[in-house]
Order: sequence, then C-alpha cells, then structure tokens
Amino acid sequence: MARTYRLSKSRFTAGLQCHRQLWWKVHEPRAPELRPDAALQAVFDMGNRVGERARQEFPNGVLIDFDYRRPLASVKPTRQAIDAGAPVILEASFFEDDIFVAVDALSKEGDGWVVTEVKATTRVKPQHIPDAAVQAHVVEKAGLPGVRVELMHLNREHRHPNHGPLFVRADISAEVAALRSDIAGEASAQMQMLAGELPYVEPGAHCTSPYECPFRDRCVAPAPDHHIDELNGIRANKLDELREAGIETVDQIPSDFPLEPLWARHRAAVLRKQLIVEPGLRDALAAYRYPIAMLDFETVGPALPVWNGCSPFGAVPVQFSVHTIHEDGEVSHRAYLADGPGDPRPGVAEALVEALDGAETVLAWHASVEKRCLSQLATACPEHAPALLEARDKTDDLRVVFKNNLYHPDFRGSFSIKNVVPALLPEMAYDDLDVSDGQLASSLLEGLLCRPEDLSEGQGEALRTQLAAYCEHDTAVMVELLKLATRSAPTSPVISST
Ligand code: SF4
Repeated sequence: MARTYRLSKSRFTAGLQCHRQLWWKVHEPRAPELRPDAALQAVFDMGNRVGERARQEFPNGVLIDFDYRRPLASVKPTRQAIDAGAPVILEASFFEDDIFVAVDALSKEGDGWVVTEVKATTRVKPQHIPDAAVQAHVVEKAGLPGVRVELMHLNREHRHPNHGPLFVRADISAEVAALRSDIAGEASAQMQMLAGELPYVEPGAHCTSPYECPFRDRCVAPAPDHHIDELNGIRANKLDELREAGIETVDQIPSDFPLEPLWARHRAAVLRKQLIVEPGLRDALAAYRYPIAMLDFETVGPALPVWNGCSPFGAVPVQFSVHTIHEDGEVSHRAYLADGPGDPRPGVAEALVEALDGAETVLAWHASVEKRCLSQLATACPEHAPALLEARDKTDDLRVVFKNNLYHPDFRGSFSIKNVVPALLPEMAYDDLDVSDGQLASSLLEGLLCRPEDLSEGQGEALRTQLAAYCEHDTAVMVELLKLATRSAPTSPVISST
C-alpha cells in the first residue's frame, strides 16, 4: 500500500509555492538547505517571542501543551477544552483530512468560532491568506461552526510603553472565503504528488516569491559571469529587449545599444577588465573639507519595542564607529557600543557629539540610514539636538559618489560595501570577521542589549568585541575607499568609460 503523507500548515503553504520544494521538504527533512543559519534562526526566535507576547492579549485563554515532536498529542486536549466550554484556546490543535494545524488562538463568538493567526509583521501580507485559509478549513472539518478568521499583527502606530495598542486585528474572513473552495483540492493534489517521484517544476518567479526557495541551487544553474541581470537598476522591459537581441552578458552588449551612463561604465569595466573612473570624481571629492568623519551606525529593531517612544521594528541606533581623517593625513578613531538594558540613545548621542566635534564633513555609506539615526537621536535627546542635526545636514553619501563615478567588474552590479570592498580592497574583505553582515549584527546586538540574561559574562564580552570589530571595520574601509578614490592608484589607472 502506498504510504500517505501528513500535511501541516507550513507544508501546505510550501506546496502552494512549489510542489517540487514541498517534495524535498518532506522527503529530505534533514537537507542542509533546511538548516537555518544564525540570521534565520533569529527571525524564528523573534516570531516565537511575538507569539508568546500575543497570548497576553487573551487573558482567558487555555493554553494547550504543544510539543512539535508529537503534534497529534495536542488534538485530544483541544477537544476536551472545547467540550469543557473554554472561551479561548491557545495552540488549539486539529487533524482532519490528513492536515494538522495548531491555531494561535481559537475564540468562541456567539454560536461560532474565531480563528486568530498571529504574525510578527506590521500588516497583512498576501501570503498570510492561504496560511489562515488552511486553518479555517481544518477547523470547520473538525465540526466547529461559523468560523470567522482574523489576523493579529503588530501595530506600527504603537509607541512604547502604552501609546496605542501593541497589536491590531484585521478580519480576513472574506479573503479566506475566496480561497476556501481550493483548499481540499490542493491538499489532495499535494498528497498525491508526495506519494510519487520528485516532480519537475520549471523555475520561475515563484522561486523567490513569496519566499526565497532554499533549493534554488538545485534547480537554477548559476548565471554566467557578468550576466545582464547584474546591470544596476535595470527594468524587466529593458532586460527583455537585451534578451530578444540574443545578449546574455554585459560584454556582449553592442556599443551602439542605448545604455544609461552607469551601465555604459559597467560594460566598459567588463570589457577592459579594470576599474573605470569618471572624470567627475575629482569635482565630487573636492566638495569635502577636512576633518572628514566616516560614520557608521548599527541599530536594533526589536519587534516588541522596549524603549520609550519606540515602535515595533523601529530601528534604534545602539552603536557607532567614527574614523576621522585630518588635514595632515592622520586618522583617529572613536566608537561606542551601548551597555543594555537601559535606553541606549542618551549614551550614543553624547558620545557621538564628542566624536564628531570639529568635523567639517561627515560621510556615510548609504547615508539615508545615518541621517535617519541622527534625526532620531536628536528627537530622543533634545539637549544634543543642535549638534546632531548639524551633523545630519553635513552628512554626504560616499556610496553615491562611487555609484556616479566608479565601476569595477567585480562589483557585480552592486554598490553595497560588501561588494565594493572585496573588489577594490581585497585585503580588507569581511571574511576574517566573526560578524560580517549587518542583519546578523543587528540580531546579536538585540540579544546582547535586550536579553543579556541569555548570555554568560564571557559570551557577552566576546560578542561585544566581535561587534565592535565589525562596526569599526565599516568605517576603516571607508577611509581606504576615500583614499583610493582620491588618488590615481598605480594599479588602478583613472580611465573614463566615455
Ligand atoms: S527553486 Fe523553484 S522550481 Fe526549484 S524547488 Fe524551489 S521553487 Fe521549486
């Protein structure tokens, strides 16, 4: 007899995205691609914290003990809670039609029931609807009448501690109803598919939407070097035009093909296999006056805000690094990393005003982030507002200067500092750092400042050292990038794309 496979809410939604992906998830549950990295694990942990906090919104809730290793064991206690007349059941578990679901909150409403799905987002997203629809389907199959469906998400208008509710609820019954008739058929198609061989699915837009598929490397061959997809900011219609002309890589684009100046520089860099520098660079750099301060902030954005006036996911600056280049060429360094769990902003603001004292120019990479942080600090710490707002107004974006004037074939179409540094300063690439990307730094900082009790003293100190090194590196590389841009490096002659 053919084996039957059990579906769950997450399996069902994976199958909606792609049957091939679901097949691998079910048949290879220990596939290396399914092991969450540190950043993804942090997202899962954040979702769990939001889910736990959401339970406080249901003070009468009866919590069903849920063990993910034995999910079906929760079905009987759920039924007992319903029979006992519980008005709200948290983690209410059902197994019908070979589909298991655990509902975040199931509440009695008149003669019917409300399914509440909690999401750690600040709005309803299209992918939330099938997720809720499969729950409503299973709950109704279990014999519960009049099911209404709502999505409870974080309220972006909330300000800690008590300005506006932390969660808001959106009734999505109508959107769910529109999908309901498809659920049984799709579930049956998924189970039939799982009983067979690995299905073939042509890769396409569904490989990245609504979620990045973990198996992309198994299905999608790597693009050739300098693929036209790398052209920075190119739109789909222009890409189609190039493809229709039989062009796959940037170096194949004919010289008479109309290109934006940046794409023309990109093509020139690939064809000449070297850094291209536009004549406008000199004027762009001439605007800078010494001392020049390179500024970088690291922020945390807790889903559940912890400091006064902060909103869910609102980015709060907790760390900075400043390297200052003085007129005589000397470089000095100042840095600050908050010591939780109190409000980090007063300490950051005070130390930053000192660090930027005397700077004529402030440079950041992707300066909109630094400008926003400076504005936010000025609002939170009015005693430092004049100095912080002055610093904001003199902050310029070094990334824009690079984007307008330089291109190296190894940028791969991106002006992220993580692409620019390995191409221009390979000896300063981020590979040797324990913390090497901003998202990971942010989640580590949040743990360090907001949940220090989860770390031993030794772990906390080690983390502070790693995070300090990461932030310092960001401004140290900016010093070297500015030097490189300022001089005509012997190994990188100044060449115009025109
Ligand atoms: S990469 Fe695309 S086609 Fe392959 S399993 Fe993932 S979603 Fe399906």
